[in-house]
Amino acid sequence: MANTSKYAFEEKVVIAAVRRACALTSSVFEKLIKNETLVKGDKSPVTVGDFAAQALISTILHNTFPNDPIVGEEDASDLRIESGKLMRERIVELANDALTAPLAAGDNVAWGIGPGAHRTSDEILEAIDRGNHPGGPNGRMWTIDPIDGTKGFLRGEQYAVCVSLIVDATVQVGVIGCPNLLVDPSDPSKGTGAIFSAVRGAGARQFTLEGTDPVSLSIPKTEVEGLKFLESVEAAHSSHSFNDRVTEVLGVQAAHVRMDSQAKYAALCRGEGGAYLRMPTVVGYKEKIWDHAPGEVLVVEAGGIVTDSRGESLNFGVGRSLGENFGVIAAGRDVHPKVIASVQQVQAEEKSKI
Ligand code: AMP
Ligand code: MG
Repeated sequence: MANTSKYAFEEKVVIAAVRRACALTSSVFEKLIKNETLVKGDKSPVTVGDFAAQALISTILHNTFPNDPIVGEEDASDLRIESGKLMRERIVELANDALTAPLAAGDNVAWGIGPGAHRTSDEILEAIDRGNHPGGPNGRMWTIDPIDGTKGFLRGEQYAVCVSLIVDATVQVGVIGCPNLLVDPSDPSKGTGAIFSAVRGAGARQFTLEGTDPVSLSIPKTEVEGLKFLESVEAAHSSHSFNDRVTEVLGVQAAHVRMDSQAKYAALCRGEGGAYLRMPTVVGYKEKIWDHAPGEVLVVEAGGIVTDSRGESLNFGVGRSLGENFGVIAAGRDVHPKVIASVQQVQAEEKSKI
């Protein structure tokens, strides 16, 4: 099942980068969060993990594709000042540990990884700052969300390491690493951790956390009556009450599945939920391209559809955000039109109340 597509090489490099980043974030959780050596509410471990994972991924991408710009969630200005010294040192150490870890099957030293691939502190900060590209409609660009779902990460629940390649506003490659997602939802004894990857036109696949043993993904057919909605855990990120009303309109009985991060897109591809619904909670918030680009190509390649509430494709070519927020609806082909119709009905109801 080798991927012989135009972007097969890019996919291979990104899976290697995401694999290393997942090991890094898992070790941050084990060492700094699980043991609760922290004052409650201190978010610094997630910040350290976030920066270090972005540095790692950005370093590998820049080393391998030096001309490609990067749209990354983080920037390093806070780390360059004196008060950021301690954090900076921890980030540099973590990023270097991950960069210099032994090569795994399929890895290549030419990607700037493996024993001896240390970077200086300045190189690590530059790697983080390289994520400052403004986005736009033309050419190649990478998106990096080093820890998507930071709230889930802190709770020990779902989070995802997410990378995509966008070419002329179309997502061509999307990779989502989910260290805490069950390998097989029907058999918890198999443990957790999987990498999901898609290349446009070449299918979607689930790999082990080591980046091996690909299994094709295809969204199972669902009946509307049994539809389970996937939604954010955080009510501030997507409207739970809107989703409740949509399920009423559809006559759906099943409880919603709440999950942090782009793990929702991966779960949809495996049939753990039948539709992912994300409607705005506040006027003015614009969805970020790094929060949806990997998920969009994954779902489409698994046979699904991703649109906004108008039924229009997400536009990855207008900058770092998707533009005006009309929500995000991802579902299998069979149910997507019905979900859109009920979303629009609920929108009309809400409008009539004003
Ligand atoms: P989730 O895990 O589905 O709750 O989504 C996590 C993502 O929500 C983060 O990566 C943020 O970029 C994004 N986010 C932050 N604030 C908002 C908001 N007000 N509306 C929608 N998404 C948000
Ligand atoms: Mg995110």
